[in-house]
Amino acid sequence: MSSPAKHRALRLMHGELDACRVCPNMIGPVVHGAPVVSRVILVGQAPGPREGSFGRPFAWTAGRTMFRWFEEAMGVGEDGFRAGVYIAAVARCFPGKASGGGDRRPDADEIARCEGWLQREAAILEPELVVPVGTLAIERVLGEKMPLAEIVGELRRARWHGREVDVIALPHPSGASTWHRMEPGKTLLARALRRLARHPAMAALARE
Ligand code: SF4
Repeated sequence: MSSPAKHRALRLMHGELDACRVCPNMIGPVVHGAPVVSRVILVGQAPGPREGSFGRPFAWTAGRTMFRWFEEAMGVGEDGFRAGVYIAAVARCFPGKASGGGDRRPDADEIARCEGWLQREAAILEPELVVPVGTLAIERVLGEKMPLAEIVGELRRARWHGREVDVIALPHPSGASTWHRMEPGKTLLARALRRLARHPAMAALARE
């Protein structure tokens, strides 16, 4: 598919995605990134309570932290990153708050329903590199649960929605998590960001 055709397919899909209301416990609106034709897909967990009003993922404090990581590692600011990388998520609606505080983790049914959108995005974009952010996204992309210390900083190959892709996992940048601010998290995050900056699909973005 040509790049303009991919862009049209993404826009069409986003129109359908915007109207999705199949999860009764999810809180709208649906949040998704721009229809960026990219070989890199970043997969987050789910929008937080603020993203809906901004109409884009990673629009609040966790996003500020994550885009600062990219700026420092690659010299690509938030606008440049959003213009060059397709930002997706395991779930596209805010799950609400968990009883113990923090955002509720999407349940298995919600994840399964929303996976169909990821599948379509992967089919349209044919990614070379997938960047899952946080434990849930990592688990969904790699198909197995693993401690952050075993996967952050590594470059893995995985079969994802019918394609062989490179995977560079990142911890969730949420302020509620201390993992990326303490050792070994700090060192492993720095290694992961260096791998990301060197990856050919990202290096092309950094040159633009
Ligand atoms: S979480 Fe995904 S599948 Fe569920 S209503 Fe929102 S967009 Fe639809």
